[in-house]
Amino acid sequence: MTKYTPMIEQYLSIKAQAEDAILFFRLGDFYEMFFEDAIKASQELEITLTGREGGMEERIPMCGVPYHSAESYIGRLIEKGFKVAICEQVEDPAEAKGVVRREIVRIVTPGTVMDGKAVGDSQNNFLVCVASDDAQFGLAACDLSTGELFVTAMEPSLEQLVDEINLYGPSELIGQPQLLDRMRSDMADLLPTKLLTDREEEGEQLLFGQFPHEQVRAAAPVSRQAVALLIAYLKETQKRSLSHITAMDLYDRQQHMTMDPFTRRNLELTETVRERSKKGSLLWLLDRTATSMGGRLLRRWIDKPLTNRAEIEKRLEAVDCLYNGLIVREELRQQLKEVYDLQRLVSRISYGNANGRDLLALKLSLAQIPHVKHICATSGSSTLRQLAEAMDECVDIRQWIEDTIVDEPPVSVREGGIIKAGCSDHLDRLREASANGKQWIAELERREREQTGIRSLKIGYNKVFGYYIEITRSNLASLPEQRYERKQTLANAERFVTPELKEKEALILEAEEKMVGIEYELFMQLRDKLSEQVKRLQQLAETIAAADVLQSFATVGAAYRYRRPAVGDGYELNIAEGRHPVVEAILKDSPFIANDTYMTEEDGRVLLITGPNMAGKSTYMRQVAMICIMAQIGSFVPAEAAQIPIVDRIFTRIGAADDLVGGQSTFMVEMMDIRTMTAKATSRSLVIIDELGRGTSTGEGMAIAQAVIEYLHDRIGCKTLVSTHFHELAHLEETQSALRNHCMAVKESGQDVTFLRKMIRGAASTSYGIYCARIAGLPDSIIDRAYDLLHRFDTASSVVQGAGEAAAAREERAAVPADSPATPWQQPAVPNIQAAEQPEIVKEAGPLVQ
Ligand code: ADP
Repeated sequence: MTKYTPMIEQYLSIKAQAEDAILFFRLGDFYEMFFEDAIKASQELEITLTGREGGMEERIPMCGVPYHSAESYIGRLIEKGFKVAICEQVEDPAEAKGVVRREIVRIVTPGTVMDGKAVGDSQNNFLVCVASDDAQFGLAACDLSTGELFVTAMEPSLEQLVDEINLYGPSELIGQPQLLDRMRSDMADLLPTKLLTDREEEGEQLLFGQFPHEQVRAAAPVSRQAVALLIAYLKETQKRSLSHITAMDLYDRQQHMTMDPFTRRNLELTETVRERSKKGSLLWLLDRTATSMGGRLLRRWIDKPLTNRAEIEKRLEAVDCLYNGLIVREELRQQLKEVYDLQRLVSRISYGNANGRDLLALKLSLAQIPHVKHICATSGSSTLRQLAEAMDECVDIRQWIEDTIVDEPPVSVREGGIIKAGCSDHLDRLREASANGKQWIAELERREREQTGIRSLKIGYNKVFGYYIEITRSNLASLPEQRYERKQTLANAERFVTPELKEKEALILEAEEKMVGIEYELFMQLRDKLSEQVKRLQQLAETIAAADVLQSFATVGAAYRYRRPAVGDGYELNIAEGRHPVVEAILKDSPFIANDTYMTEEDGRVLLITGPNMAGKSTYMRQVAMICIMAQIGSFVPAEAAQIPIVDRIFTRIGAADDLVGGQSTFMVEMMDIRTMTAKATSRSLVIIDELGRGTSTGEGMAIAQAVIEYLHDRIGCKTLVSTHFHELAHLEETQSALRNHCMAVKESGQDVTFLRKMIRGAASTSYGIYCARIAGLPDSIIDRAYDLLHRFDTASSVVQGAGEAAAAREERAAVPADSPATPWQQPAVPNIQAAEQPEIVKEAGPLVQ
């Protein structure tokens, strides 16, 4: 029977240790892949698939990449969602008996990459682990490149768990097989990653070695299990110290506003729906951070708006101070710009891959801290002063680096030239010996020129021949015979050596070799010493990141004239002249039209918004959600004044996300969203439904829309903004005490319609659908016929007319004189548009038909 060769046998046994990864098997200067791995990798990396004899009849599929460029190939596979196991030769091939010993030294996975493109500077790269027990679900989210670890437990609802997973947008998910199976079957569409790895139960002993004991004890059992699975996975794949994962950040989900993945996407908080780009998102707008740490923290703050009023006020207080203090703000920004990514530097240090330049970057960053600290301490803000107090200047750490590392270190840590003079007597002596040797050689050159009379004689060095004396061909004749020993002949010169030159050379090279060894040793000592200080540096990084985000809020707020919101524990929401922050920032040709919003328990708890397409309904509704989120992350808001209640949850049902769920009808998706909404919303929630009831027949759509509105109004009492093209629903205002009709004002002149983007009270009595049809170029005969039919339907429908009259009557009652001295708060949300515009042509979205 034929057998595989010993090397292939070795390959197979190693491959068995990492079956779900592509194995990079080191063979000399290449990493080779075999069998299925080779077929997969050759396709993904577009490299040639070859074959190799392996002892059997058939050749084994093989492909390979040079070891020195492996990094980029690994990066590409990781980006495509593969895991890569790196297998090295762990003994010197020259000394090996039989096949060289090989071992997997690290398994790189999408959730555990430390460098490269896969890890964007301003983005975390999370690995999330989930676990369950009889009572709860637990979740642990870790960014290996920064050492951050967030941990929580929750009631056992798969939906909640998936919401929380999406918060971190992990590139890899691990967990207990039963739990992952449930997600695979029920939630696959909602998961941010397809890379799910099953992990069996893990002992919790592991945790006591990694974290402070009181922290481990404070965590719920299910959280402990999640963290244990995570740490075990990291240890198994990374095969090295995880000393930079120093603490668990235990939190309760109630501390943050909840949003499901669709709501996050719909509101375009961190990326746009269409291009999935940061540009055009709230994050993009608010990001004037000066450091990468700040950039990442800003993203987290946007993902987790606070629900604790005191915490929100703390942030607002600092933003207020920086908003009003232009000089302080600018100074702070300038100083922060000089601070490198401390979190990632620290991780590299404790991970063992920091080089001299990383330590230099750490030193330069630390040099900024006293300035940053001083600015924060003297800013006048108590929040910033507290941050300043928590800023450890790490003077000792800075001094260690200053004393040891040269000012311009090389990239490599193995070639010397990295350690300052005065660190080690031995190193200094060797350096002197080497310098003396070189001095002696320079002297020799001068002497030999003099004695031979050859002015162009020179002493050079190369790696193959060492030091040599070089004489050009034209001068050879004047060289005394037997003076030197001939070593190498070039086209126009001869190279020679002498015994004493060789002797000096040996001394110099020996010294240099020793120097490199000692320098490496000293560098490692410093790196180890620094890695014991990880926790201090990480805490410093946190304070710097927070100061950075606060200055970013202030900078953006000042640029767009935002105002500090009053955040209250009550029900009332009152926004005077609110704007949509991103639409406002993007609009170039026309100004953004501000609109008020007023919602209390009795008045306007539900706003029913009618009006034509493109009138600005959806922008208006999103703007309310955006302003609430901005207030709860501690930012100023785009409004003249705003009173914001703390919102526990935002739900949106907006068309744009339809394309996200393949295979389900728009209507079904809408109904499923509404089911979640009705199940989860509380009176403190904000619900936004765009075009409720579309996607089914008019009669049914309208019936469902009405039933949903009544349910939200009567049973839940949440703040609700609903837009609908069923203007017939306006009659609800008569029966639902807290519902108010609103519509977008429209200016008609002749056959033309202009959207004024102004929200006014009352219901639109047409959707301008026929008007849109005309703009789209439908034949006149169709348009005329449609108007004709519409006119007939309208006169036949008493409901619509009834609603119109009722709205008009209330309009009159609520109207406030234009010169009323009331503040925006007290004024009912009835912008006196007629006064601002031309009263004779602006009307409450009446029908076009005359
Ligand atoms: P609708 O939901 O009524 O169909 P949108 O809210 O999508 O309308 O608005 C259509 C477009 O009108 C937006 O893309 C935006 O450019 C513009 N727009 C909306 N609201 C305003 C406003 N308040 N001021 C200026 N432009 C606006």
